[in-house]
Amino acid sequence: MKNIKDYNLDALKKEVETLGEKSFRAEQIFKWLFVEKVKSFDDMTNLSLELREKLKQNYDICNFNIEKKLESSDGTKKYLFGLSDGNAIESVLMQYHYGKSVCVSSQIGCKMGCKFCASTGIPFIRSLSAGEIVEQIIAIEQDIGEKISNIVFMGIGEPMDNYENVIRAIEILNNPKGLNIGARHISVSTSGIVPRIYDFADKNIQCTLSISLHSANNNTRSSMMPVNNAYNIEELIKACKYYIEKTNKRISFEYALAKDNNDNQKAAEELANLLQGMLCHVNLIPINNIEKGKYEKSSLENIIKFRDYLNKRGIVATIRRELGSDINAACGQLRRSYVEK
Ligand code: SAH
Repeated sequence: MKNIKDYNLDALKKEVETLGEKSFRAEQIFKWLFVEKVKSFDDMTNLSLELREKLKQNYDICNFNIEKKLESSDGTKKYLFGLSDGNAIESVLMQYHYGKSVCVSSQIGCKMGCKFCASTGIPFIRSLSAGEIVEQIIAIEQDIGEKISNIVFMGIGEPMDNYENVIRAIEILNNPKGLNIGARHISVSTSGIVPRIYDFADKNIQCTLSISLHSANNNTRSSMMPVNNAYNIEELIKACKYYIEKTNKRISFEYALAKDNNDNQKAAEELANLLQGMLCHVNLIPINNIEKGKYEKSSLENIIKFRDYLNKRGIVATIRRELGSDINAACGQLRRSYVEK
């Protein structure tokens, strides 16, 4: 059955019309789903019984069950959600001084094969629908009884490999008549699927684009991220420059530092040369150890040296605060299995 949360407002209007109803009903349904966050069509009390019945016959309301919830000593919470088809995904809630941020998954498993990321350890099953992406936020808002202010597409999966559904989810999240989370409060992260970066630029939605770069050297980057064999650094940076030109927005480059791999002075120089003059920001992440991972965290001393060198070269770089690593909720530690249960 179709998931009623998969539709943005325009698409929902068309759906409602196919049921022989006036399109303003779509606004009412949209509000029930994304403002009131009801769990059943019976709760949509301003709709006729007849319409509620029609909706029930044609659509599911996707409600996630919290299968498991872990809480870190720093307040970060990791949720394991059970999906209607028996699969499971993880999402992470982080508390910042400016509000609450959710790291959402976009796929069940991931095809990208990055050597340092746990989400790669399990085979790819399928992409999530727009409604399943949005439901992660709804379920967490309901669990904590508070509004989420920021969303990062940095959970399991490659958002640009599920482009249409991610865009649709953003349209739903964004809508002032729905969850009303401003595009500027949404970040989409990609390992570097170049054609979709051009598409994203042309869409000109005001989200932040994050690029998982991790190295400015093609050999090193290819050894960490197979996607570099399909789209190398030159092609990636060309697409990033196009994005900046089109949107006038700063790009955020993610760089996870691994000892004796991409954390030395030469690597810092290559990175500075690559990004010089670009409207960007570098997020340095001490690489998180994953089971069977071959990478080890760079020393804090090294990370600070790396940052200072970039700053000296005029490139804004900050060290990302690590959240949730004690519950395997930090970057690259999410997976989709019940194994950890
Ligand atoms: N597929 C997308 C979305 C996942 S985002 C992407 O690659 O961007 C998750 C972020 O965490 C990415 O920047 C990813 O490179 C980073 N990451 C993955 N494994 C990590 C690890 N072990 N330590 C630190 N960061 C990691």
